Amino acid sequence: MCGIVGYTGDREAFPILINGLKKLEYRGYDSAGIALEKEDGIVVYKTEGKVSRLEEMVKDKDLSSRTGIAHTRWATHGVPNAVNAHPHLSASGKLAIVHNGIIENYQVLKEALEQDGIPLKSETDTEILVNFIEKIKNETGKNLFEATQLALKRVVGAYAIVLMDADAPGRLVVARKGSPLVIGLGKNKDYIVASDASPIIAQTKTVYYLDEDEVGLLEPGKEMIIKTLDNKKVNPRLTELDMTIEELEKGGFEYFMLKEIYEQPKSVYDSMRGRIHPGKKIIRLGGIEPYENHILEADRIIMVGCGTSWHAGLVGEYMIEELARIPVEVEYGSEFRYRNPVIRPRDVVIGISQSGETADTLAALKLAKEKGALLLGICNVVGSSIARETHAGIYTHAGPEIGVASTKAFTAQVTVLLLLALRLGYLKGTIPRERYEALIEELAKAPDLIEKVLQTDLQVQQIARHYKDMKNFLYLGRGINFPVALEGALKLKEISYIHAEGYPAAEMKHGPIALIDENMPVVVIATKKGNYDKIVSNIREIKARNGRIIAIVTEGDKQVAALADHTIEIPEADEMLSPLLATIPLQLLAYHIAVMLGRDVDKPRNLAKSVTVE
Ligand code: GLU
Repeated sequence: MCGIVGYTGDREAFPILINGLKKLEYRGYDSAGIALEKEDGIVVYKTEGKVSRLEEMVKDKDLSSRTGIAHTRWATHGVPNAVNAHPHLSASGKLAIVHNGIIENYQVLKEALEQDGIPLKSETDTEILVNFIEKIKNETGKNLFEATQLALKRVVGAYAIVLMDADAPGRLVVARKGSPLVIGLGKNKDYIVASDASPIIAQTKTVYYLDEDEVGLLEPGKEMIIKTLDNKKVNPRLTELDMTIEELEKGGFEYFMLKEIYEQPKSVYDSMRGRIHPGKKIIRLGGIEPYENHILEADRIIMVGCGTSWHAGLVGEYMIEELARIPVEVEYGSEFRYRNPVIRPRDVVIGISQSGETADTLAALKLAKEKGALLLGICNVVGSSIARETHAGIYTHAGPEIGVASTKAFTAQVTVLLLLALRLGYLKGTIPRERYEALIEELAKAPDLIEKVLQTDLQVQQIARHYKDMKNFLYLGRGINFPVALEGALKLKEISYIHAEGYPAAEMKHGPIALIDENMPVVVIATKKGNYDKIVSNIREIKARNGRIIAIVTEGDKQVAALADHTIEIPEADEMLSPLLATIPLQLLAYHIAVMLGRDVDKPRNLAKSVTVE
């Protein structure tokens, strides 16, 4: 995910572009760049780091221009550095592009370019796209708008793009599929286009939300032209913005955390994008492919993480042991690194971290490297320290997470771990074919299922109202839902400051049951698949001690519903998918309680987003 802005009109483009980028920095901030149209061609300035660094870098340059595009990046392909930063120029230097999204078939397009001997400077999918458009343009003799239409018909993936062409001054070509793009129409028929309306609102309130598979041509003083990829003309329906800038950045949500909870259908989809092919029943994890045999022969896998990432590791342990039959251990980075652990060359150590900078996890990985283990990383931030330290890895591609309490990064980690478990199980032959195929199909549907779970929001809010003044909570789950209980408790602690504990449900009898009374709500994950009868017995034990139960159940469940004080239904799915679905109501519960208690949800006290100290 990243932020893009473009301007063409009768005013100076630079201030509009740079201010627009600052509004979009929440979408990504690892590098930034700008391209301006000049009389003798397009000039590009780009740098690693934030928009302020770009501003500093260009302050002595001649920036006068009325047409330009700009970008604040959140890398998906290639480390964050100045070369990989956008805008990217085509080989001739005539076309410039900014892009938000992922081109899934970039490898195929790259091969086509390589055959033509077209040189590439960066590691990005974006540079391939702009060169592919130029190739089509040269081959067909069409203009940029038409060439973009033709090229995009052969592109698989997600994109919002803005292009300019040195041979067609003043014009911007825009297109989108899967990533957002808004066109603002100024008073003098000038145009400002951006990833969301926050850079636009200061200039104009009249906008057109570009639709899927549409391509637009923006030329100052002229009506915008919008067509589909199939060249059908579209009549753009303009709308008037009535939001404040603050509201726009959070997409209309009160807090980033809630926005990120609601983004999960998309972030889970993005974490599978280009990796799962339900039609062909194939999973491919490009990053680790060269190491697959090594992993299959491993004596054991050790997952290392902290906080939420450690919980994702525990979920991964269930998945990999169940589907691939490789022994897995899950370790806290901080414990592992100081314990003189036994690590052998046939061990595979997987570091899990949203930021890729978590100090303890990083140190644990370095230690394992010294002892000769193969290191893999599961990180959200491309080019982060853990991504660089490991031999290979799988990015989660969840997009930047701003809320300190992790939500969408966790579900993306879990998704990637399930892909890994399925891939290893498939290669090892440890999953029956039908289950493998059924799981691929269900996983592909996970975004829709999560969408459905999000509909419980209002009900969860009502439950939150009942319990917001409680001082303690207990979260219980069994099997793969045990780490989900831990994660639910952690969310509540982090953002509401209420004491909560997660426990394996059966362990309750060995201690925590002494705490149960009517002032200790118990959240139980009691889905149908996996130890259902056992968990029903645990619920009875709580009920017998006047406990109050909030149960996450499978749709249509009657038995738990008859026992629990509240039930929240989630769709029926394979046990392996349960963590992806059952986590959502727990995130919402923590969120609503924290809001009701007036907490600073996005920046809870004493916590930081990326823990770079031990
Ligand atoms: N795939 C592009 C890159 O890595 C765009 C990134 C994005 O939209 O996050 O540069």
